[in-house]
Amino acid sequence: MSNNERTFIAVKPDGVQRGLISNILSRFENRGYKLVGIKMVIPTENLLRQHYAEHVDKPFFPKMLNHMMSGPVLATVWEGKDVVKQGRAILGATNPLNSAPGTIRGDYAVDLGRNVAHGSDSVASAEREINLWFKKEELVDYQLSQLSWIYE
Ligand code: GDP
Ligand code: MG
Repeated sequence: MSNNERTFIAVKPDGVQRGLISNILSRFENRGYKLVGIKMVIPTENLLRQHYAEHVDKPFFPKMLNHMMSGPVLATVWEGKDVVKQGRAILGATNPLNSAPGTIRGDYAVDLGRNVAHGSDSVASAEREINLWFKKEELVDYQLSQLSWIYE
């Protein structure tokens, strides 16, 4: 299993406005994942239509689009072993009412349309989303000093 897998994690406008950025980032840092990209973005409709391509025809899409454009999103890229699947687990279920306590959504959300954070659902989605939100030169290549304390 690759230690260089990457995922796209975003704090949505509700998470940013509620002051949850540091809490969300620290869960990934504490787990041992490496932050390789981070920026604040107010996403355009065009970006969101591509990001949420699978949902553009769903009834909830216009409301979601408005919400996602309503303020800054914190876009991040994390790297490490199994980070896509583990990232989804750290986030919790899509509907916060089904998210276990201890997960981000299970600890901080109750509503599907205000579930505070996004995480890629597969390695292929992660690659697609990272390319959509970040330029290559915005992703930083460096070695974690704690590497040998996190990986055998
Ligand atoms: P995710 O990958 O866990 O974020 O879930 P999905 O890819 O299925 O949906 C994307 C986002 O759309 C979710 O995080 C929700 O914020 C929102 N969403 C999904 N389904 C619904 C719905 O039925 N109603 C509303 N209002 N929002 C939804
Ligand atoms: Mg999704």
